Amino acid sequence: GKRLIVSGDQPLSGRLGVQLAREELIVEADLHRALESGCLALEYQPLVRVDGRIEAVEALMRCELPERRLLPGKFIPVAEKTGIIVRLGEWCLLQGALFAARLRDEGVATKVAINVSRAQLTSRSFAPALQAALICANVAPALIELEFTESLFLDLSETVQANLRSVRAAGVGMAIDDFGYGYSCLANLKDLPATKLKLDRSFIRVLPDDRRAYAVVKAMAMLGRELGMTVVAEGVETAAQQAAVEAAAVDAVQGFFHARPMPDEAVLAWLKERKTHEP
Ligand code: C2E
Ligand code: MG
Ligand code: MG
Ligand code: MG
Repeated sequence: GKRLIVSGDQPLSGRLGVQLAREELIVEADLHRALESGCLALEYQPLVRVDGRIEAVEALMRCELPERRLLPGKFIPVAEKTGIIVRLGEWCLLQGALFAARLRDEGVATKVAINVSRAQLTSRSFAPALQAALICANVAPALIELEFTESLFLDLSETVQANLRSVRAAGVGMAIDDFGYGYSCLANLKDLPATKLKLDRSFIRVLPDDRRAYAVVKAMAMLGRELGMTVVAEGVETAAQQAAVEAAAVDAVQGFFHARPMPDEAVLAWLKERKTHEP
């Protein structure tokens, strides 16, 4: 049957309703089931600096139900639309923080980057959830980084600004994800307390042949650097792309060329192996 769902974590009253298609309702039900039955997991993908050192690992959510595997490209938009992303996001904050503590205890301390959706940042429960995760995991804020897409900054409401302030006040890093793809507003970029700029994969995919894309990557890298941010190229898959982004002077790279997202035990082994050969 039909049903009205409201975006965000608010109850139905007063806000604009969003009608979900049947498939979306199924995905929503699957996500609730996954949360309750332990079918959610995080995989981790390394970000490698051009000098070969490890910059961070990014936590990427996986939903593995007994009968089907849901991909983030499918379930994240539904989770955002229904508001369940707030609960999924809190789960990610805690799991990511616990994993950062684990890496530290295993002698391979590395920043863990956690993706945060717009709906989380507009929720008043965000700052307390972040604090709770840090305390519960007993992990230094400097070992956590949050990734926001640019669309967050379209609405810099009081709650959003307060949440951004508390992220930075806590000493947690702030990355702008998928930069250059959507709503790249340079005025907002200038005012944000971000510590990292991640250049969207769409610019990298066409390298090294597309000289105009190369020019844009090089200019974005300079912009990020001038603003004091660490610049990361996303989606590097080949040695030729690696060479191109190095020539464009990015600081670090993420992509299948270096490593795919891996389950926690696999990334731990990968980090330990790397550490023994560290430059
Ligand atoms: P993202 O944050 O930009 O994450 C990077 C995505 O690019 C990941 O896809 C990763 O597997 C993929 N990727 C990395 N290197 C390469 C490469 O060399 N080539 C190609 N073709 N792809 C590469 P994934 O895991 O499917 O996640 C997709 C998106 O879903 C993420 O994009 C992020 O926006 C969202 N997402 C994933 N996990 C979470 C989460 O825990 N919370 C929130 N809010 N969003 C998440
Ligand atoms: Mg990300
Ligand atoms: Mg990204
Ligand atoms: Mg992306």
